[in-house]
Amino acid sequence: GIAGVPSRRTARVPFSFELYPPKTDAGATALHAVIDHLAASGPDFISVTYGANGSSRGSSLDVLKYILHETRVDPMAHLTCVGSSHAEASSLIREFLDAGVHSFLALRGDPPQGTREGDSFLGDLGSAAELVQLIHRVQAEKVPYRETVIPGLPRARRLKTTRDKVRIGVAAFPNGHPQSRSTSQDIDTLLAKQAAGANLAITQLFFHADHYLSFIQRAEEAGVTFPILPGIMPVTSPNRLRRILELSGEELPAELSIQLEIEPTEAGQREIGIAHAVRLGQELLAGGAPGLHLYAFNQHDTVLSVLEGCGALPNGRTPTLSAHPPTDHTFAR
Ligand code: FAD
Repeated sequence: GIAGVPSRRTARVPFSFELYPPKTDAGATALHAVIDHLAASGPDFISVTYGANGSSRGSSLDVLKYILHETRVDPMAHLTCVGSSHAEASSLIREFLDAGVHSFLALRGDPPQGTREGDSFLGDLGSAAELVQLIHRVQAEKVPYRETVIPGLPRARRLKTTRDKVRIGVAAFPNGHPQSRSTSQDIDTLLAKQAAGANLAITQLFFHADHYLSFIQRAEEAGVTFPILPGIMPVTSPNRLRRILELSGEELPAELSIQLEIEPTEAGQREIGIAHAVRLGQELLAGGAPGLHLYAFNQHDTVLSVLEGCGALPNGRTPTLSAHPPTDHTFAR
């Protein structure tokens, strides 16, 4: 095998990471090192978020290109359609395909402040499901054959370019989308995304395994057949907890919140966040989750510690932790 790439023969827990586009040149340089560490752990893909209304079009694409050209990991582009015309959305998809990115997380995106659901200037595409359809249509123009030969790329990468192997992911909300009227609407929305051709979902963050496990059970009963990856966010400070509750509308997890508030040191808070994420990951895997998707906040050490604690790193290896002493003793295995 290739140094740093884990053997595919061992049965393993699939995992993936999510990054956001950096805002500064220094951030971009630092992120390359983070990506190298994350890639060495053997993720299925690394996804890169997309700023609402195209604000991060260039910087997202730069990160995706780095993953594509400097690692063997599949880059997944988040794309949003809110505020775009049909033609703009099509050309955006073409631009990413031309750059060599073939996996997408199709999102509607949040309407700009002050606008309301149903406003006509939200754009031509009303939902993420329509974006999924459009991605498939544009892909079909661009990738008409089962196996497209791209000179200079390894065979594994070539296979990823076939139409039926392409990942088209969508968002799922175990505790309901903030605008959703009922829990059945969230399942119906997911079914619509499946009908449009999505083959993977990633969830909004949540804090209790039961919330995810009952959601995937309801989704399965309703006929959803694609894997729904739980999105796990290690919460390593009280500030971060406040911020993500604001953004996601999730309920405050009382126990985690209290533990973070009373712990005086940053190192201690980080360990609390890791321990919570490890416990959640273990419960999810025990309950049948098809893998783990980690919100990495553009850092590698915390998410790799979580995966290690969940026993998800191949052969228990800690490929990139040498710069940060392992903290095995801080959480139960
Ligand atoms: P949709 O699935 O289209 O749903 C939006 C709302 O409309 C829901 O309430 C849904 O129930 C309802 N709805 C949809 N279709 C119908 C229908 N046919 N009839 C009635 N109601 C319907 N945002 C970004 O800007 N950039 C990102 O990179 C990004 N990444 C994300 C990654 C993940 C894993 C998640 C969970 C969210 C992400 N978001 C991102 C946020 C996302 O854009 C918002 O949550 C947005 O409000 C909803 O997007 P959606 O794709 O779920 O939309």
